[in-house]
Parts: sequence; structure tokens; C-alpha cells
Amino acid sequence: MVEIKALTDTSVFGQIAEHQHEQVVFCHDHETGLRAIIGIHNTVLGPALGGTRMWHYASDAEALNDVLRLSRGMTYKAAISGLNLGGGKAVIIGDAKTLKTEALLRKFGRFVKNLNGKYITAEDVNMTTKDMEYIRMETKHVAGLPESMGGSGDPSPVTAFGTYMGMKAAAKKAFGSDSLAGKRIAVQGVGHVGTYLLEYLQKEGAKLVLTDYYEDRALEAATRFGAKMVGLDEIYDQDVDIYSPCALGATINDDTIGRLKCQVIAGCANNQLQNENVHGPALVERGIVYAPDFLINAGGLINVYSEVVGSSRQGALNQTEKIFDITTQVLNKAEQEGSHPQAAATKQAEERIASLGKVKSTY
Ligand code: NAD
Repeated sequence: MVEIKALTDTSVFGQIAEHQHEQVVFCHDHETGLRAIIGIHNTVLGPALGGTRMWHYASDAEALNDVLRLSRGMTYKAAISGLNLGGGKAVIIGDAKTLKTEALLRKFGRFVKNLNGKYITAEDVNMTTKDMEYIRMETKHVAGLPESMGGSGDPSPVTAFGTYMGMKAAAKKAFGSDSLAGKRIAVQGVGHVGTYLLEYLQKEGAKLVLTDYYEDRALEAATRFGAKMVGLDEIYDQDVDIYSPCALGATINDDTIGRLKCQVIAGCANNQLQNENVHGPALVERGIVYAPDFLINAGGLINVYSEVVGSSRQGALNQTEKIFDITTQVLNKAEQEGSHPQAAATKQAEERIASLGKVKSTY
């Protein structure tokens, strides 16, 4: 198993080597102002699929670090979900509100085209299905197109369903039952996925607490789902059974971990543990069952994959339902091996890649 550790070498090739990426492409275009990085982590199982994120990074180093971490996560997400996909991701540097134009997106599409299908892009933060349409004008290696164009549409409802399945599996491990009726659940971030997740939780009779960076959005969700609304930082101090991070990454860190009163953590955000080696074991010590993020938020990827292979939305939902069983398996394995769930999930993903890599060694 590849050891997961904090970065010690911050040079470009040092970082690429540390995360074991196959290829990293820097894209630049003077005319449109495009500055983008495409990270291809691993293509043993298939083409690297992962969304493009547009963000006003404070530095190029921050953008590189983000694309490397995210693309590595995609490799594990695809592998553990049984998909024939590798892991990749792209970032476009800049403020989406001011820099994003049709020309910039189409130029980016040309760079994706040049990779000849080794990388397939899709939507991520600050990108829309309309943006994917522009990229599609330059390359066919795009997924997550609108349903009207024969695409798989919005992945958020499927991501929410998978997160819900993973949460139920973790609840079963912690409380002996997968029922969420009467469970107190704190949801951090009520955007696309968070809102669909709240629908499932409300239907099951959970007692909900929520917060969001946008107060009006939080208020609307609180009213709609009969939830208590709390401040951004207060979410960590709630007396709840389950904490569900559905906003940003790295919210499980040295500052927050001692404040959490929950017995389960299960949410859709990527990279929830600030440092997997430190905070994964720390959660085990505190008796908190952690449902690995890249496993339980794989529904969106499963949905996009259905577009690549030409299967139905229902097929994607059926496959997403299996997140319950895979989470149960991983949680039990972590316990048996004396490790933590994130490490056990990573190991399971790496074992699939290693065994199928051998199958592919014969032409
Ligand atoms: P979104 O942008 O629609 O929602 C995120 C919400 O979090 C927003 O409402 C935002 O205001 C809020 N937020 C931001 N910072 C916050 C903070 N500090 N505290 C509280 N709220 C905060 O995004 P989404 O599509 O719902 O995705 C949510 C998370 O799940 C992201 O981390 C994303 O990478 C991950 N994810 C999404 C999908 C998908 O299908 N959309 C798939 C896999 C993973």
C-alpha cells in the first residue's frame, strides 16, 4: 500500500512523485487568460475521469496541490466503486465570475482534446453544464452533459443518495441499527448535495441541525426541513449523533476534532480529514465511526460513468445503493486490521488497481 503522508518535498516533481501521478499538464493561453492544470493520477483501470474546478487560488502552488490531491482521490473513488476508470482532475486558476468566457472554456477544451481520451472532464466547483457544452464543442472527452444533450445530468441527487447509504451503514456500525429515525444530525453546507441529503434525512425522521456560508440558503433549508439553524463555527459544538460535512474539505482537523460530540461522521465533502494519518486514527481513538469520503460520495461519479458507458440513471442508482455494503465491509475491515476506515478504503482501492494491473499486462 502506498503510504499516505504529508508533503515533505514541495518542488513540482517532488509533489508529483509523492502522490505518484502519471502525468500533469500545465495549460496556458495568453489571449483568453487561461491558466489550468490537468492532473492525471492513475489510468490502470481506465481513462482518468474527474471534474474541472475553477477557483481563485492564492498561488500556483495551492492550485497544484489541490489538483494533485483531488485527482488522487478520483482514482480511489473509481476503484473502490468497481468502475473501469482512472483518476484525474483539472483546475482553472482565476475568478469564475470575471475570467470565465466561452473562448477560455473552448481553449481549455482543446487541451483536453490533445490528451486523446486519457482524461475525460466533467463539472466541478464553479462550472456548469453550460460550460461543459462549450468544452464539448472542442472535444468529445466530456461527461456530465445536460440530459437534453444525451448526458447524465445533475450528479448531485445521486451523490446525496450514496452519502445517505454510507451514513446508514456507519450508523449501523455505531448504533446497531441503520435507522436514522430520531437521530440528531448536523449538516454543514446545504448546497446541491446537502439539500438532497436533507430530503432523505427528513423522510426518515432525523432531528436536523444545519449551517451554510450563505445565511439565506441556510434559513430556507431550515424552514423547509424543520431544522435548527446554527452559525458557521457552532456546527462543531452541536450535541448530535452524526456530523455530516457537505461543504468544504479539511473540516476534521486539530481545532475541530476535540469539539465533535458525534459518534458518526458521514458527509459528501471531498478530503474531509485534514491529515489522513493523524485524524483518521484520532477518530478511532475517540470512538467515532468515520465513513470514508471518497467511498460514500461516489454516487456522482457512478452517475457520470453511466454516461460514458451508455447505461441508465436507474442503473447508476442501483450501483450507488451498493455503497451501503461496501461501507460496511470497509468499516469491518478497518476494525479487524486495527487501522482506520480511510486507510482500509484506500487499501481496498489499491488492491483492485494492483490486481487488475496484472490482468492488463497481457496484450
Ligand atoms: P455546492 O457549492 O452546491 O454546496 C456547498 C455549500 O456549502 C454551499 O451552499 C456553500 O455556501 C456552503 N459552504 C461553503 N463553505 C462553508 C462553510 N465554511 N460552512 C458552511 N457551509 C459552507 O456544492 P455541492 O455540489 O453540494 O458539493 C458539496 C461538497 O461535496 C463539495 O465538497 C464537493 O466537492 C463534494 N462533492 C460533490 C459532488 C456532487 O455530485 N455535487 C460529488 C462528490 C463530492
